[in-house]
Amino acid sequence: MKTCFYNGKIAGSEAPVLCVKDGKIEGFSNAAPEGYEKVDCGGGHILPGFIDIHLHGGGGADFMDATPEAFRTVAETHMRCGTTSLAPTTVACTRETLFNMFAAYRECTKGIDFVDFLGLHLEGPFLAPEMKGAQGEDRIYPPDEAMVDRIIEEAGDIIVRVSGAPEVPYMDVMGDRLSELGVMLSIGHSNAVASEAIEGCRHGYRHVTHMYCSTPSVRKINQIIYAGIIEACYLMDEMTCELIGDGCHVAAECIRLAHKLKGPDKVIFITDAMRAAGIDVTESYLGDIRPENRVIIEGGVAKLPDRSFYAGSIVTMDKVLRTAVQKAGLPIDDVSRMMSLTPAKLIGKDKHKGSLDPGKDADIVVMTPDLQPEMVYVRGIRRR
Ligand SMILES: [Zn+2]
Repeated sequence: MKTCFYNGKIAGSEAPVLCVKDGKIEGFSNAAPEGYEKVDCGGGHILPGFIDIHLHGGGGADFMDATPEAFRTVAETHMRCGTTSLAPTTVACTRETLFNMFAAYRECTKGIDFVDFLGLHLEGPFLAPEMKGAQGEDRIYPPDEAMVDRIIEEAGDIIVRVSGAPEVPYMDVMGDRLSELGVMLSIGHSNAVASEAIEGCRHGYRHVTHMYCSTPSVRKINQIIYAGIIEACYLMDEMTCELIGDGCHVAAECIRLAHKLKGPDKVIFITDAMRAAGIDVTESYLGDIRPENRVIIEGGVAKLPDRSFYAGSIVTMDKVLRTAVQKAGLPIDDVSRMMSLTPAKLIGKDKHKGSLDPGKDADIVVMTPDLQPEMVYVRGIRRR
């Protein structure tokens, strides 16, 4: 099967035509070659498919529902908006629920071929109680040896990423053991000061989960001004971070600052989307459907019913692209990189994913000139 894309700006190339063969990027050309199906891109943008390594749900479903239908619904909702690879993300939960998710991931991803699953991202339960955000306090606890052993059994294949608070007991041991196996470790829902974050960095926690949200900045403790996680990230060249690009959680100036200080190879965009992403509702649930998990949807974002905290975004990656380009004013080539190649590198999948380089999977999203999703191809097959 041979396809070529023309009449669009190709990310990372000045060439007018992009050629795809047998599900892989073949290369660039000056004219549409003979024998190829020709795709007119309408003067828009030809981008590598988006890679979202932090999302919980969408289309009315959450990965924590742990059913094949839920996995299919979330994946399809996001794929239709340009996401071609994703890492299903868990919320703080009991040991039993977490272990059940490992089996559920294995079962529920079978037979879904219109998107690529990269492995689970565990967001908790190893969080700082005072930084729980919208997560339930009774489901937050430190790791122990048995837990780390169980995670290691699934590392690489099922678990690719863990977010937590490095200042919590035993997180240093967990960091040492998991980083050795290539699991991406990340500081999230943490109350660390910069020195603790930098110590965490030495134990493998080199990324910041939804920076600016539940990751404190400069503060005064006993009359002394301490730097926080955000400053540690800006200070340490080896640290990377992610931003929720829904246009609600993080102001445009924060996005511009992160881009200016760290650059497109060290900052990524995520959705952190919950169940209500991609549908029009006024009420939903964060995590599993239980009264205590109820959230309200208002002004384009999910909130706890008392409005004390945002409870995850309701966006898809196409909206993230528009936020970064149209609201924050970043160059589209940088934003595309921050939504595809950089996350692919962080999660260890850049050999096959993340750019339109020859030999990589032909995961392509065609956006209109005003950045609406038009067509989505996953491994060379049109899915939208
Ligand atoms: Zn999250």
